[in-house]
Amino acid sequence: MPYLVDSHCHLASLSYETEAFDSLPKLLKRAYNCGVTHFLSIACTKDEFIKQEKLTKGYKNIYMSCGLHPLNLDEMPDFKEEDIASCFGNDRTIALGEIGLDYHYAPETRERQIDVFARQIALGHKVKKPLIIHAREACNDTLSLMRSENARDIGGVVHCFTDTVEMARAVLDMGFYISFTGIATFKASDNVREVLKYVPLDRLLLETDCPYLAPVPVRGVENEPAFVRYTTNFISDFKNVSQAQLATITSKNFEELYKVKLQEPEPLDIEASDYKLKPQVLHAPLSA
Ligand SMILES: [Zn+2]
Ligand SMILES: [Zn+2]
Repeated sequence: MPYLVDSHCHLASLSYETEAFDSLPKLLKRAYNCGVTHFLSIACTKDEFIKQEKLTKGYKNIYMSCGLHPLNLDEMPDFKEEDIASCFGNDRTIALGEIGLDYHYAPETRERQIDVFARQIALGHKVKKPLIIHAREACNDTLSLMRSENARDIGGVVHCFTDTVEMARAVLDMGFYISFTGIATFKASDNVREVLKYVPLDRLLLETDCPYLAPVPVRGVENEPAFVRYTTNFISDFKNVSQAQLATITSKNFEELYKVKLQEPEPLDIEASDYKLKPQVLHAPLSA
């Protein structure tokens, strides 16, 4: 049975108090019901990492990352590489990120973003973990830092890709993967679909980036890992491959990038059937 991986979710940032998002096991069960069985949970600060490590303890199918996000600089005002490096003591921590540049929301901190990004790429060389890069309206600086800091030698992914085909080409040329969120399903996202057309299947990853960016047809609700299935269904149609083929190849990409072997998760003996969002579509086996 092919697996689906949510290769970028923020499990420590989801709201578990509301009825729909009541507990991590229920959230995982809903994901399993949709064929989504493996997760890479991202921390944007050291504190978020500590929270997610505690939350996901004991789940071998939940991998983790840590890095200082360009929009969270204030939360680690005197950034030290050691603080991030210490997160790699856990076997489940397989990636450094998300790191990068965001001039859409914080153009005023450009200089500091560049400094922290460059230092974290350098850290990637030391801890030997692939990079998860966030780049928003910062294409030129992102590419030039990736080049000057030899990111090619570490590898990684540019996540939630919304930039141009030219940027995608440059990223692929450096050996990086490109990851797509539910944005690919949005009506107004022709530019993202141009890139989707261009990126070869063996360099593509799928993600929710939850709690944000729920795909069509659940746009606007809090996103969760199960919904990577909607994006999978959409992208498999768009790329003209079966859902099972897309699941198989993107899982293989994940294994190759992060040097892990995905294994059948422990079954969860709980009910999570009060799931109201088109279960007939989501719960169908991946089409072969
Ligand atoms: Zn991001
Ligand atoms: Zn993210």
